[in-house]
Amino acid sequence: MGLLKKRSWMSSMLNMKCPRCRQGDLFETATFSFQKPFEMPDKCDSCGQKYMPEVGFYYGAMFISYILWGWTSLIIALLLVFAFDWSVTGAMLVVIAISTVFFVWLFRIARSIWIHFMVKYDAENVQKTR
Ligand SMILES: [Zn+2]
Repeated sequence: MGLLKKRSWMSSMLNMKCPRCRQGDLFETATFSFQKPFEMPDKCDSCGQKYMPEVGFYYGAMFISYILWGWTSLIIALLLVFAFDWSVTGAMLVVIAISTVFFVWLFRIARSIWIHFMVKYDAENVQKTR
């Protein structure tokens, strides 16, 4: 493996790394910099894996973000209302505030999860190109 330290699938996904080599970044900018929040490079700068293998590739990622957002919002709202005795309106405002702050992160993590299911880790290829 040489200089490459092995990253787990989960770590690669959470850190939004290339699923094939687990080295390159899926996004050019930091999530909370809010600079170019939805742009991805065409390909991995480490192994050349295309980040948009086909048109509509990330269609499924929309469902992932929707499900993640839906459940998280619901759990937060229910907790605030039933465990902390908040009003429904107050809980909704908190959910909206959290959604606003984590909107970019959610968009990105959904794409990261999606591409990690679709593209396999390929260590051999990594060694060849390095
Ligand atoms: Zn790569």
